[in-house]
Amino acid sequence: MLTLGVLLGDGIGPEIVDSATRVAERALASVSVEVQWRELPFGLEAIGEFGTPLPEPTLADLDGLPGWILGPHDNAGYPQQFRGMLSPGGAIRKRFNLFANIRPARALSASVSAACPDLDVVIVRENTEGFYADRNMYDGAGEFMPTPDVALAVAVFTRSACERIAHQAFQLATTRRRSVTIAHKANVLAKTTGLFRDVCLTVSEGYPDVEVHGEHIDALAARLVSHPRDFDVIVAENMFGDILSDLAGQLSGSLGMAPSINASHTHAMAQAAHGSAPDIAGRDIANPVAMILSTAMLLRWLAARERGVPALGAAADRIEDATRWTLDAGVGTADIGGTASTSAFTEQVLSALR
Ligand code: ATP
Repeated sequence: MLTLGVLLGDGIGPEIVDSATRVAERALASVSVEVQWRELPFGLEAIGEFGTPLPEPTLADLDGLPGWILGPHDNAGYPQQFRGMLSPGGAIRKRFNLFANIRPARALSASVSAACPDLDVVIVRENTEGFYADRNMYDGAGEFMPTPDVALAVAVFTRSACERIAHQAFQLATTRRRSVTIAHKANVLAKTTGLFRDVCLTVSEGYPDVEVHGEHIDALAARLVSHPRDFDVIVAENMFGDILSDLAGQLSGSLGMAPSINASHTHAMAQAAHGSAPDIAGRDIANPVAMILSTAMLLRWLAARERGVPALGAAADRIEDATRWTLDAGVGTADIGGTASTSAFTEQVLSALR
């Protein structure tokens, strides 16, 4: 019996997480793996019940699980006292040291129009430090205002964090087209992104079969659009990686199709690259593909772990195939030009799994 955590989240979270768990449960059953979902309080609902979006009992339960699904959360919609603090998703990443955010982007089906149908890239985003000041302090906030008219933020780059994310990127590249692009801006941010670039270059020496290129983030963003096939794996600090992965997700079809996992060496969390989309919440129109495929990534990560269950990898393959068949059949939600509701799309994927 496999037990996985479920944090529904806010906005479209409950709709797309429900879709992902139903699809995963069917795929796992087809490879004779029984799954138990442990739903834990999180987000706006947890504020109502526990006075915090991330209650301590939720963290304690997650600690005992190898993996879980995190629905998107809407910090901007939380009561004032919870805004400006570390977001609950960020707090989970920090607590479990989920340092690697792996975000693939590629056009899944010819029936989904994509600005860059040739794009097939994985963004390996450092998840614990960098320019996102909210997670950079042991105590206190990394963003502060000495006067009402001045705002400051603290960026953090450490050699050890740069090293471990670089290893993730180069290891991944050995299983793909053997090329890593380092996103940096060392001509301007010489100390911070310069350290990131230099550490990645040093790590690259241990992977002689992998080509390595460094590129300024701004030029990289332009070339991702003009020459998508030039990129295989991109390694980036936290904020650059976040922005680039939304760009890559949209270029490959829709933000609603861009999956990701956040991983340490011991825990992994499936999380769609997009946010909670409050503008379309509760209308049964959100695209569940990103959440479904993030869950497949989680199963693949569990399968690859030492003593992992290989059947989980087979279940992940089935989820990806069924999602692709559904899209190939012309079934899709409104964001990709289709007419299917979230639930109708999910039913089609479930049928494809049969
Ligand atoms: P965050 O700061 O959490 O990333 P955001 O508001 O910047 O949130 P999203 O919530 O991702 O960004 O929404 C950006 C746009 O993309 C919105 O118009 C939203 O409706 C759309 N969108 C995001 N996810 C999906 C999805 N799964 N299906 C359809 N549309 C989506």
